[in-house]
Amino acid sequence: MSELTLSPQTVQEPVPFISLIPQHQSIADEVTSAVGRVLAEQKFILGEEVSELETEIAKHCDSREAIGCASGTDALILALMALNIEPGDEVITSPFTFFATASSICRAGAKPVFVDIDPITFNLDPEAVAAAITPRTKAIMPVHLFGKCADMEPLWRLAVRHKVAIVEDACQAIGAEYRGRRAGVLGTIGCFSFFPTKNLGGAGDGGIMTTDDVDLAKSLRRLRVHGDAGHYHHLEIGLNSRLDALQAAILRVKLRHLDRWTEARRANAARYNELFAARGLTDDIRLPSEAHDERHVYNQYCVRIPNGNRDGVMKHLRGNQIGCMVYYPIPLHIQPCFASLGHRVGDFPQAEAASREVLALPIYPEMPAHHADLVVDGISTAMSKCRSQADDARILPFRAAA
Ligand SMILES: *Cc1c(COP(=O)(O)O)cnc(C)c1O
Repeated sequence: MSELTLSPQTVQEPVPFISLIPQHQSIADEVTSAVGRVLAEQKFILGEEVSELETEIAKHCDSREAIGCASGTDALILALMALNIEPGDEVITSPFTFFATASSICRAGAKPVFVDIDPITFNLDPEAVAAAITPRTKAIMPVHLFGKCADMEPLWRLAVRHKVAIVEDACQAIGAEYRGRRAGVLGTIGCFSFFPTKNLGGAGDGGIMTTDDVDLAKSLRRLRVHGDAGHYHHLEIGLNSRLDALQAAILRVKLRHLDRWTEARRANAARYNELFAARGLTDDIRLPSEAHDERHVYNQYCVRIPNGNRDGVMKHLRGNQIGCMVYYPIPLHIQPCFASLGHRVGDFPQAEAASREVLALPIYPEMPAHHADLVVDGISTAMSKCRSQADDARILPFRAAA
């Protein structure tokens, strides 16, 4: 009966955008025993698991200090608080990023000043940053978007010349490298997220801040516990933003595997690059870039599909059970909640074009290799449809005239 109703050739194997299950299965015993250890001790807030993780993360990115907190968003807010950012201050950042980059600036009481991005890297355009600096600028917040470090050297020069801090939004970039140094030590304070789909993901929310500045580290440690300097002496008004011991114990297990998982992401990216080139698609589709002196960690593998073809390709892929996502569909300067900044469509043409053209493809470390083939096959088919539709559109006026 099934032979009559099912034709296996036309039922395509689903290609999930991401699955966290195979990764967990590969380390389930280690994770279970780490969780058991915390439950046996019943010490859930901060404590040894958190301080051990802090030491290990500091070692991983070569920072002097690391300070755990409740999320990547809180890491950004706490970083700005420790830098004494206040109402009236300005923080320059990108409009093409996850919402929390800019909302953290507002939550810290300051004003986000958006500048346009570089169309190749999707990261802050350093010349646009230079043009936006005013006497009220207190910090620059570059985002290492999708796992690729922002172009930091021009930002270092600006930071020194204008005496402003750099807060790295490294939430997507743990282990990424720029000229031999890792994300987290490329600015004054680095901020990471342990959201489950980040490269180092916990079993819930979590975050961490890195810095080489011992005084800032002290301040961050106070600010995450209500500004308590010890024995209920409050020097400042902080947050309740701690990393749970349970999360820390799980993250310590996962950190031991992170470099291997990152290499798997990079191998998947290399495979995509080869497949796109082999099918002659690199004129129509722009692939992620990586310079010789950097390490992209591919939290996302985002291609650019221009000429209005992105949404058609996305529809075709999804119709064939191939997962893909748009990060990010609406640039932040035109989000309703930032209307008071007075921006309009057209203010940041590169960010707006990126929002129309990017498409993130499956890249998780355990993705089966042949899934990349299915994804690129799907895009190839969709692109030939787009091309023939474009040809039809060109022929149409002649037909109408005939
Ligand atoms: C995930 C992310 C954040 C926020 O992290 P949470 O842990 O979810 O609060 C901030 N910025 C960027 C670029 C992110 O990708």
